[in-house]
Amino acid sequence: MPYRAEYIWIDGSEPTQLLRSKTRVLPDGAELPIWGFDGSSTNQAPGSESDCVLRPVTSIPDPIRGGDNVLVLAEVLNTDMTPHASNTRAACVEIAERYGSHEPWFGIEQEYTFMKDGRPLGWPQGGFPAPQGGYYCGVGEDEVFGRDVVEAHTTACIEAGLEISGTNAEVMMGQWEFQIGPLGPVEVADQVWLARWLLYRIGEDFEIAATLNPKPIKGDWNGAGAHTNFSTKEMRESYEPIIAAAEALGKAHDLHIENYGAGVDQRLTGLHETAPWTEYSYGVSDRGASVRIPWQVKVDGKGYLEDRRPNANMDPYVVARLITETVCRDAEG
Ligand code: ADP
Ligand code: MN
Ligand code: MN
Ligand code: MN
Repeated sequence: MPYRAEYIWIDGSEPTQLLRSKTRVLPDGAELPIWGFDGSSTNQAPGSESDCVLRPVTSIPDPIRGGDNVLVLAEVLNTDMTPHASNTRAACVEIAERYGSHEPWFGIEQEYTFMKDGRPLGWPQGGFPAPQGGYYCGVGEDEVFGRDVVEAHTTACIEAGLEISGTNAEVMMGQWEFQIGPLGPVEVADQVWLARWLLYRIGEDFEIAATLNPKPIKGDWNGAGAHTNFSTKEMRESYEPIIAAAEALGKAHDLHIENYGAGVDQRLTGLHETAPWTEYSYGVSDRGASVRIPWQVKVDGKGYLEDRRPNANMDPYVVARLITETVCRDAEG
């Protein structure tokens, strides 16, 4: 029986890239071929030279179609087979290889907001729900909205073999989080993009959209981030390299902030469990710092740190590359 391969790629939309996909029907047992698409429709090429190349980089069982069908993550190349300008994966691969001896691991907390009829799921038309307080990790029909979608998404991620490590309802009504990892820089980013695709795709069936907008509602409502937990082999063995990593991240603060997702200044206000984007800080247990060292890590004297700055709409290839490079280059002196 022929099988279906859903080729998924990241487009050239600005300032935040979007996901695209299309279906290839392949003969029974056939390998995944290199494919192409019309780059003039995805902000990746002019109409006069519109062809872009899709090269499969990883494939997983398709939890929606089942059977032998697969989801294929593809990277975008120019027709001379060099990485396309929108391809941020290639540079991430290079840095992961350069610093591979440090064995960098990432766990990414992807926050997002469900949207229905142009407003966050569960919100009253033209008004506001009760203020924040009971929604975070809440239970009950009056506190939690979209749990059926979250459950379907988590099941799909597990069936697809993704390293999803948990989910929770967030501080703003209609906002949720899933975590991917720990995994290496390229693997975590591949899986975050695939998990995002599954979230949008499953949302279609429930007629609910998910958005990575970092600040969906202005004012006294939490934004959506993508806290990025990070360790190297050295950090998993002793405490001093964790402090050294936190210090190294401080020295490269501006470069990181510029690359942590469009609108990061809107979200990192200094309120709502954030540090202001204009200042770098780190501390143990401190959810008002740029970088938090978890309490348990201090007690154990080893483990990881949490970079709380990345926006929900960040590109995990860029964030994982920057953190790996900043910390590991510093460690090598
Ligand atoms: P928070 O308490 O900030 O909400 P979460 O439990 O949501 O944290 O997410 C923590 C993430 O950190 C998980 O994805 C987990 O797999 C990951 N993690 C755990 N240990 C490490 C480690 N040593 N290096 C990198 N990531 C890690
Ligand atoms: Mn979390
Ligand atoms: Mn969270
Ligand atoms: Mn966190």
